[in-house]
Amino acid sequence: MNDISNTPAREPIRRKPDWIRVKAPVSKGYAETRKLMRDLKLNTVCEEAACPNIGECWTKKHATVMILGDVCTRACAFCNVKTGMPRMVDPLEPEHVATAAAEMGLEHIVITSVDRDDLPDGGASQFVKVINALRTRAPNTTIEILTPDFRGKMKDALKAICEARPDVFNHNLETVPRLYPTIRPGARYYASLRLLEEVKANDPTIFTKSGIMLGLGEQRLEIHQVMDDMRSADIDFLTMGQYLQPTPKHAKVEDFVTPQQFNALGSIARAKGFLQVASSPLTRSSYHAGDDFAEMKAAREAKLAKGGDTQKVPSKRQWNREDEAPAA
Ligand code: SF4
Repeated sequence: MNDISNTPAREPIRRKPDWIRVKAPVSKGYAETRKLMRDLKLNTVCEEAACPNIGECWTKKHATVMILGDVCTRACAFCNVKTGMPRMVDPLEPEHVATAAAEMGLEHIVITSVDRDDLPDGGASQFVKVINALRTRAPNTTIEILTPDFRGKMKDALKAICEARPDVFNHNLETVPRLYPTIRPGARYYASLRLLEEVKANDPTIFTKSGIMLGLGEQRLEIHQVMDDMRSADIDFLTMGQYLQPTPKHAKVEDFVTPQQFNALGSIARAKGFLQVASSPLTRSSYHAGDDFAEMKAAREAKLAKGGDTQKVPSKRQWNREDEAPAA
C-alpha cells in the first residue's frame, strides 16, 4: 500500500458512472497473458495500477510491462504502485521482456517503469538494455517507452535512451501544474515538459507522447494551457483519460468527465496541432497504443508529404545510424 502522505487519510470511493463500467477479465487470452507474465516474472502496470482496461487489453495480448521492479521511490497521490525501498535490478529482465514480445508476436510494445531515484542513472541503462534486447529478439516490434522524469539525472539518461532509439518516448505530465503539490509532489511540471523537449532535441525522429488525467479538480482553461505547453514542447501525441481513485487512501475523484466533454477536449487538442489525440474516459497512456502509433506515423508522413512545416524529419528507415543528420 502506498504511503500517500499528501492526501487525507481516507476518501470514500465515488460510485462510477455507467460509461466507466468494464467487463470482468475472464477470457482465454487474458489467462494466457497472465500466465506468460508470471512465467517470465514480469510486472505489468496493468495489474499494479489496477487498470480498468485489463480485461480488454490482455484478451488481445496487449500488456504494458513495468521494468525495474514493482516498488517505486515516489508516492504520487493518484498511483496504486507500492512505495518503498526497491529491490536490486534484475539482470535477466531485458531478456524476459524480449521473450514476452517475441512469444506474443507483438507489433508494438509499451515499456514503463517505477521511479528509481535510488539508482545512479535513474534506471536509464535498464531501459536501454530492454530496447536493445527487443531489437534483437523481436525486430519487427515497435517500441514505446513510458519513463519517469529521471530527476537530477535527466540529460545523461535521455542521451542514453535516445541513442537506443525507441519509436515513441512517452512521459506523462499527469495533471495541470496547480495540482502538482498535492497530486505529483515529487515532480516538477516544467521539468517534465523540458524532458519531452529534450527528447526531440536528441532525436527529432522519435515520436513524443504525454498524457493527463482528468477529474482531479482541474479547470477547463488549465487543460487548454497544458495543451499549449505541450505543443510548445513539440509533443506529438496527447492522451486524456478519467482519473479513477484506486483506494480510499488515494486522491479522490472530483469530477467524472462525460464522454461528450472528452470528445470536445479531443477536438480542441487536434485543432492545436497534435499529430494524434486519444481522449475518452478509459484512455490510458498505453490503451490502443499500437493502433494509435500506426495512425500517428501515417499522420506525420501525410504532413511531410504536404510539406508541413513541423517535424521535417525522415521516416526512421531513412536514418543511417552513423549519420545523425536527417536527410534533406
Ligand atoms: S490500458 Fe495499458 S495499462 Fe491498462 S490494461 Fe491496457 S495495456 Fe495495461
